[in-house]
Amino acid sequence: MALSSYYPQLVAQRRELHQWPEPGWTEFTTTWYLVQKLKAWGYQVLVGTKVVNPEAVLGRSEKEVEAGLAAARAHNVPEEFLKATEGYTGAVGILDTGRPGPTMAMRFDIDCIPVQETADPNHVPNKEGFRSKHDGYMHACGHDTHMSIGLTVAKWCVDHKDELCGRVKIVFQPAEEGVRGANAVAASGVLDDVDYFLGSHIGMVAKYGEVVIDPYGFLCTTKYDVTYTGKPAHAGVEPNAGRNALAAACSATLQLLGIPRHGKGMTRVNVGMLNAGKGRNVIPPNATMVMEVRGETGEINDFMAEQAMNIIKGNAISYGVEYSVSKMGAACDMKNDPEMIDLLRETAKTIPEIKTITESANFGGSEDASLLAKRVKEHGGKVAFFVNGADRKAGHHQFNFDVNEPALDTGFQMFAGMVKRILARK
Ligand SMILES: [Zn+2]
Repeated sequence: MALSSYYPQLVAQRRELHQWPEPGWTEFTTTWYLVQKLKAWGYQVLVGTKVVNPEAVLGRSEKEVEAGLAAARAHNVPEEFLKATEGYTGAVGILDTGRPGPTMAMRFDIDCIPVQETADPNHVPNKEGFRSKHDGYMHACGHDTHMSIGLTVAKWCVDHKDELCGRVKIVFQPAEEGVRGANAVAASGVLDDVDYFLGSHIGMVAKYGEVVIDPYGFLCTTKYDVTYTGKPAHAGVEPNAGRNALAAACSATLQLLGIPRHGKGMTRVNVGMLNAGKGRNVIPPNATMVMEVRGETGEINDFMAEQAMNIIKGNAISYGVEYSVSKMGAACDMKNDPEMIDLLRETAKTIPEIKTITESANFGGSEDASLLAKRVKEHGGKVAFFVNGADRKAGHHQFNFDVNEPALDTGFQMFAGMVKRILARK
């Protein structure tokens, strides 16, 4: 097995980042770590509203952001930097070769999962001393490996600048979990000049030594928080004076689960949480539903969303309660460009550790890189997303999730190989 000369860097950064996982929109310490490296290597670095459009932000909790800022201060992240973020995490590093050529963007997500990392002494991060130091949070989806790959590609581009033309954009995207972050990054316009866009996920449907160069099955999805507001009243003395928000939410939930199937493709709907009521003898004046719809295509997802909104509104009228809907996350489907698929195949063939090149496999989830890809496509660019295989100890989002570290190297070599092909100096 021949790992690249960048392998020690890949492992060191990954183990550093694994120790301080931060949930979406609070990745201030993480962003600072990334920005320092990019700046040290000569990148122009954009942060704050230059990479996040506040008007398009989804699913960001002001309270959690405050906690993230406080944690960053405790980690000695400079106040000047925190001010520059304007309260928004994520960063984009730009390297201009000074020679005319295309602009290539590569996207790496940076947030973690609210999962307590296992105490099992055989879990590699425990054995090797790099377990999460952030209680209740863990890089259980491999975004620590994504970031390390991104940083290493950034360094590789600097080391090989003389062989390249055009511009490189390294995009560190916040809040992928819950598909919250990409909407605002896309709306910032930071990708509007991009000719080639590349993203990837580690593990998923592929084992170490395998890459999937044209995955399918990225479900379109929209996430909503729905609030019903009624009126409290004594349940014995005067129930007629109340307006029952709990009843509206229950009725809406059952109707949501009964939205018709769609003839053109797969659909999903889920009400994952319902909180309502104040006490046994009070007509419930409040109810909150945390829900999502999914569809195989944008058209089908839109159908699901429209049906859901009708049901939510209809039940508000039925029960005489007020309602509000907040969009908390979004992703769409994704289709790789044939030219990019060919480049991925050619690149994979040159990497000895990659033994299996799988043309297509079901990704089986939602990915908000799709929104960045959509934006790039709308501006005439080409896009691709591939799956970088890894051997996992447990499934994604589980407390004993881990990947074999050589998988970082195949991921890195895929990205660096794609840069070499797309930005080769003429
Ligand atoms: Zn993930």
